[in-house]
Amino acid sequence: MLTPQLYGAIEAGGTKFVCAAARDVDDTATETRIPTTTPARTLRDVTEFFAAAAAELGRFDAFGIASFGPVDLNRASPTFGQILATPKPGWSHTDLVTPLAQRFECPVRIDTDVNAAALAEASRGAGDLFGTLVYVTVGTGIGGGAFVNGETLKGLLHPEMGHTRVVRDARDGDFPGICPFHGDCLEGLASGPAMQARWRQPAEDLPEDHPGWALEARYLALALVTFVCTLSPQRIIMGGGVMSKPLLFPLIRSHVLELLNNYVRAPELLQQIDSFIVPPALGHRAGALGGLALAADAVRAPLRSELTADR
Ligand code: ZN
Repeated sequence: MLTPQLYGAIEAGGTKFVCAAARDVDDTATETRIPTTTPARTLRDVTEFFAAAAAELGRFDAFGIASFGPVDLNRASPTFGQILATPKPGWSHTDLVTPLAQRFECPVRIDTDVNAAALAEASRGAGDLFGTLVYVTVGTGIGGGAFVNGETLKGLLHPEMGHTRVVRDARDGDFPGICPFHGDCLEGLASGPAMQARWRQPAEDLPEDHPGWALEARYLALALVTFVCTLSPQRIIMGGGVMSKPLLFPLIRSHVLELLNNYVRAPELLQQIDSFIVPPALGHRAGALGGLALAADAVRAPLRSELTADR
């Protein structure tokens, strides 16, 4: 009888690292949350958690890391697996992959948190049976990942959908936007902190009839239309703290239809918009489950470099 695989998964976030060990992608054997403090301390605690799990459960077959960005995903790069320049103090150029690969001597896959969430949703969540989908999170920042023709989208770096340029709305007056790089990109205009800066109160405190919600839906819809026209997703999944306001979904859907103006003539869009733009089926666990899905991919379809690694 085959021994079941043992996967390690990390959702590496700005405030916490969610770590899980699992026998398969549907079952978490053990899980913990480790605060994101200094790289040395956080990675030491992460390694200790997995070492304890290995002592109890056995040898790990692969790890998957769903990381905050920007992160180097190019396996041929000398800085593969490193967090790139980040405003998070101390974390620029932190290598997330090597400590795990060396300690546990198994393949370690890494992707952005939103790409990994797109992978998890495509595999067994809201995007079940879809070959191409987009995952967007709207919270303290705006991030987007894509699963395209069966794999997550990577290239020059990785998608930075939150920094998509959107047409300024006349209702937005002279609000300059809060992105330190672009001012009024999507994240600069529509992230949670942007809403707070514009309306001088947290987004979650805005009443349902506040004009801020209509503006928010318009900006998000403008970006979604760009994603529809460039990536041709079969589904768009929207999560994050700001999207927990249910009134946003119908507003965004109607703006997307209006902006596309019957040009993209797909029945999934025109007749089933309620199932085209949806919340995550995996809820807040999409990131951690994305890590598991990455690890499972490393076992199911190993890369040549992973096969030749010392195992
Ligand atoms: Zn920006």
